[in-house]
Amino acid sequence: MADKTKQEKPGYKTIPMGGMIPRAGSSEDYKTGDWRVKKPVRDDEKCIDCLFCYIFCPERAVSVTEDGKIGKINLDYCKGCGICAEECPKDAIKMELE
Ligand code: SF4
Ligand code: SF4
Repeated sequence: MADKTKQEKPGYKTIPMGGMIPRAGSSEDYKTGDWRVKKPVRDDEKCIDCLFCYIFCPERAVSVTEDGKIGKINLDYCKGCGICAEECPKDAIKMELE
């Protein structure tokens, strides 16, 4: 498995009561890429820039370029769920073991 940077995680004494979220946008602090076993690999020859993978990704790990084309997959946040591969109409994404 690939080497992943360790993240400082709060202990139970510092987590807010009831798991409240005290600050908007704090999900960016949690790099869900730590969970991943498989990573999505896109075949740019097959891709038609339909953006389905961008729309369906629950982690917003897929980006779109300024000219509206599909961009990179941010592996810091990609949790390897495979939804993008499942939804791709061109079968352009394969999930590969890391
Ligand atoms: S595998 Fe899941 S989290 Fe990763 S890019 Fe695809 S849809 Fe997003
Ligand atoms: S869903 Fe498939 S064809 Fe559509 S942009 Fe993503 S990789 Fe390309």
